[in-house]
Amino acid sequence: ISFSDLGLAEWAVQTCKELGIKKPTPVQRHCIPRILAGQDVLGISQTGSGKTAAFALPILHRLAEDPYGVFALVITPTRELAYQLAEQFRALGSGLHLRCAVVVGGMDMINQAQTLTQRPHVVIATPGRIKVLIQENPDDVPAVFSNTKFLVLDEADRVLDVGFEEELRVVFQCLPKNRQTLLFSATMTSDLQTLLELSANKAYFYEA
Ligand code: AMP
Repeated sequence: ISFSDLGLAEWAVQTCKELGIKKPTPVQRHCIPRILAGQDVLGISQTGSGKTAAFALPILHRLAEDPYGVFALVITPTRELAYQLAEQFRALGSGLHLRCAVVVGGMDMINQAQTLTQRPHVVIATPGRIKVLIQENPDDVPAVFSNTKFLVLDEADRVLDVGFEEELRVVFQCLPKNRQTLLFSATMTSDLQTLLELSANKAYFYEA
């Protein structure tokens, strides 16, 4: 089975080929068609299994069809992971004029708020920093996310484990109810089960 068989656009298949990504991994095979079809997904899969491309490719496919506003918000537990995710999004989205912003601690907050108001297509953030930006710019930043199509929690078990409930609550309040939610995690936890049950769409559960 190929990336074309999964329903991805030809430009995305070509970009993968150029990056040496030729054959979908199991998490990609199972999750990409579901994400393209509009389902929420909880994917339990190890780092290195190709899980980033499993959500980045269908997000970029949909973005290419309808490029407006902040299309996807990706939350990840650490700065390093945020930069790695941005690198993969930029590589996989090199065929688009992708605007991808990283919002993490240790950088100037005024610049970050300004970057957000320019409405990048994909925002990759750590929970603490995005919460502070939302709370300190209540007139500008929450509105940036009002049409967001995808919320991704990457390494969701770690995000929840560190006790980011308060941060996530603030973020969730800015997002529309009809968004798609994609949770990817190395382990299954009861917190993830709870989040999955809150899912507005029919959720698909994948476990490697
Ligand atoms: P991840 O599981 O997202 O941390 O991905 C691990 C690495 O695998 C990344 O460097 C990807 O570029 C690479 N990768 C993702 N999907 C595939 C694939 N289908 N075939 C080969 N390499 C891949």
